[in-house]
Amino acid sequence: MQALHPVSVPERMLATVLTRPDGIAALVPETVETPRPAPDEVLVRVATVGLNRGDLDIINGSSHTEGVRLPLILGLDPAGVVAEIGHDVTTVAPGERVVAKPSISCATCAPCRAGRDDACGRTRTIGVDRPGGMAEYVAVPVRNVARIPESLGFAEASAVAMSNAIALTLLRTVDADAGESLLVSGASGAVGSAVVQLARMRKVRVIAVVGSEHGAQWLRALPGDVAPELVIDRSVDPDLSTLVRQRFPDGVGVYVESTSDPDGWREALRSLRAGARVAVVGAQAGPIVELDNEWLYRRRITIHGCWASTLVAFHDVLRMAGEGRIAPNIDSIQPMSKVASAYQRLIDHQNEGKVILRVADEVD
Ligand SMILES: [Zn+2]
Repeated sequence: MQALHPVSVPERMLATVLTRPDGIAALVPETVETPRPAPDEVLVRVATVGLNRGDLDIINGSSHTEGVRLPLILGLDPAGVVAEIGHDVTTVAPGERVVAKPSISCATCAPCRAGRDDACGRTRTIGVDRPGGMAEYVAVPVRNVARIPESLGFAEASAVAMSNAIALTLLRTVDADAGESLLVSGASGAVGSAVVQLARMRKVRVIAVVGSEHGAQWLRALPGDVAPELVIDRSVDPDLSTLVRQRFPDGVGVYVESTSDPDGWREALRSLRAGARVAVVGAQAGPIVELDNEWLYRRRITIHGCWASTLVAFHDVLRMAGEGRIAPNIDSIQPMSKVASAYQRLIDHQNEGKVILRVADEVD
């Protein structure tokens, strides 16, 4: 049986297509065939989609993106309205507002069956391994969408869907508990600011590390119940470990690293107590950092790589954002026609929080 599709879905659509791995100039608007949903997929009329640092690796052809096939429509976390549903879809209907989780797990391997679908080795990703959301329509597995709470706009949904879900997944992975101390770098960024707020909701004592006064101001302006206990601006106070030891003489228990700046990494490791857990969730400053294995085993440090979220965390953060318990951190909302300049904000490190692309003004 054919998928149900109303006549309003056109045969062809406008998309931003990456034609070759040659920088943001290689992102071009093109009219392409509109995808059709498979039996277990929905077709979403896209309203917004987030820009992510991982996109830049594909745009620039970084070595770890060798398997990515071009031309490709980027866009990891599209939000919009269901335009069409596949034959087997029963959980959402056309007209409903949804947002997609980018990483598609296999649902059958051991980690997936244990609820650790963030660690699935067969993960495929929207906007990486299949067409993404920088287009008028995107087809995604129904298992990967959630309804957007009424109180949230599309941009907020795109901002929360990936960054906050990864932040919640990593906090659950490192098991950050009430009363513990947590140091997070890049704390005014999309993932970092989510870590700050979600950790505070768990009554964790948060030290937020930023690289600019603007980022520090954003964190200090957060409501008291989700604001960090201490904000350190490394552009003013590079001596991170001394400041941390003044507040926590035994060192901190959890360190969330989202930039991998080598100096910040070294300083943060000096700030850890024995038995501390480290979660690495980004490497935008460069992937290579120093690690002393003698120190690692003597101090009984555990390091986690955190790259995706669980489906459970994805649904949880949308509910929390809908209830107003976490503030989506949106840097700016740019039209799709300005996609190159929108990415330039990420390249120049001008953004504080998520840069959102508005694909369509009206999607109803
Ligand atoms: Zn799996």
